[in-house]
Amino acid sequence: MKLRTELIGSGSSVNRDLDLVIAGGGPAALAAALYAARYDIEHIVLESYQPGGQAALTALIENYPGIKTIGGGDLVAVMKEQAESWGALFEMSSVISADPIGDRIQIKADSSTYMARNLIIATGAAPARLGVPGEEKFYGRGVSYCATCDAPFFRDARVLVVGGGDSAVKEALHLSEFVSELVLVHRRDKFRAEPYLAEKLLSCGKCSVNWNTTLKEIKGDESVESVVLSTPEGEKELKVDGVFMYVGRKPATEPFANLIDLNDNGTVRTHDIVHTSRENIFAAGDVTDNKLRQIVTAVSDGARAASAVFELLQ
Ligand code: NAP
Repeated sequence: MKLRTELIGSGSSVNRDLDLVIAGGGPAALAAALYAARYDIEHIVLESYQPGGQAALTALIENYPGIKTIGGGDLVAVMKEQAESWGALFEMSSVISADPIGDRIQIKADSSTYMARNLIIATGAAPARLGVPGEEKFYGRGVSYCATCDAPFFRDARVLVVGGGDSAVKEALHLSEFVSELVLVHRRDKFRAEPYLAEKLLSCGKCSVNWNTTLKEIKGDESVESVVLSTPEGEKELKVDGVFMYVGRKPATEPFANLIDLNDNGTVRTHDIVHTSRENIFAAGDVTDNKLRQIVTAVSDGARAASAVFELLQ
């Protein structure tokens, strides 16, 4: 308990020796924090400047068992409150690097450095960029990766959504409550998204889906004015006020690239769900190569990882 008091009142740039550092602030990290606190493991959670991770940017969660519907931000806020009520400690600081030193891991974050016996990587994933001309130029000026954050700016506008997965369809449904017209383009002729979500989108009056269609370019002067699409009938230009991209996610694993084995797509290579190529390093949630990426699986990973750390410390 002494250590915890020191941590709460301490300044920055101090090497602190802990049993566990949890990197990340989404559901996986929050569950790991809850379990670590209840196991009384000396720990700190290094959450980035986007607390709650991707889940916090999801308008509506309808598949978290036990709660019929809840906003993503509300769900992660309750998770954090619950973890803190058990003594979980948080610091708003992004991990910059992690290096093995003896039997410890040195974790450098924006404002501090920690030496830890164990590390749980739960840094999640950020929206992938499509890489088309105009995407960077108009980011924040009509190009967005977050309908939950930006939908109110597109009231009565015509928008394009790119992608066919759960994120694209779910966020398109949220956007449709604001915009006057929504066009979704998907590179194939079949959604990857849950059928329930797909059916909802297909029956949304102001939404249309262009199959086998890709986005080639985003055009405009100060902000987005139109897009160039490659369709089965050839290229066409469509006037739109905004473009929302949901073409997958990029795992946030750069700081750990030299520490543990990663897959070609950047995810952490795991075995037995949360174990990595190092005995004292665990991974949880969207940062892993586990197939199902849901809030319910992220919290399960977080709990398993904290439990594995507890066992190692015995
Ligand atoms: P995702 O499932 O990987 O879907 C990405 C979509 O973008 C796919 O439809 C893909 O097309 C398309 N795409 C990828 N690269 C493209 C490119 N270069 N050009 C055009 N289209 C491209 O990603 P996500 O939707 O962000 O979901 C990530 C994970 O989170 C998934 O496991 C998902 O189930 C989960 N999630 C769940 C919920 C939920 O409420 N249950 C909500 C959000 C996310 P193809 O289909 O042709 O590959």
